[in-house]
Amino acid sequence: MPNRTAVHPELYSPDLADNPSLNGGKCRACGYVFFPPQRYGCESCGAPPEKLEAVQLAGRGTLHSYATVHLYMGKDIEAPFTIGLIVLDDGPAISSTLTNRTDEGLAIGDRMKSVLVAASTDQEGNETVELRFAKAGAGK
Ligand SMILES: [Zn+2]
Repeated sequence: MPNRTAVHPELYSPDLADNPSLNGGKCRACGYVFFPPQRYGCESCGAPPEKLEAVQLAGRGTLHSYATVHLYMGKDIEAPFTIGLIVLDDGPAISSTLTNRTDEGLAIGDRMKSVLVAASTDQEGNETVELRFAKAGAGK
């Protein structure tokens, strides 16, 4: 049976294609919420690593800014593609590739949600998925 593998399994769950939660963290000393997860201590108040706990972030937020890349020399994604800065409802801001290839139809303040998209599929049908953000439907 084909498998789904996440490109960065430490960051999100590969099991939830529609709106996966993100693996973030929270400081028990000051309440600071962060993403991606890290174990070096609180970036906000300097509390030691043992004060940090793993939390699941909802994978929903608001589009803060975006830019379309028209020239890209890498082989992992084909230009044009659009990068967005999304301020998650849980607090942290995340920079992510968007499912929109261009900025058509995007606006600052749009509601966004996390999705997993197929990055590649091998001959047995095993999928590699990676995180993107997509415009959330109205009222979500
Ligand atoms: Zn802290």
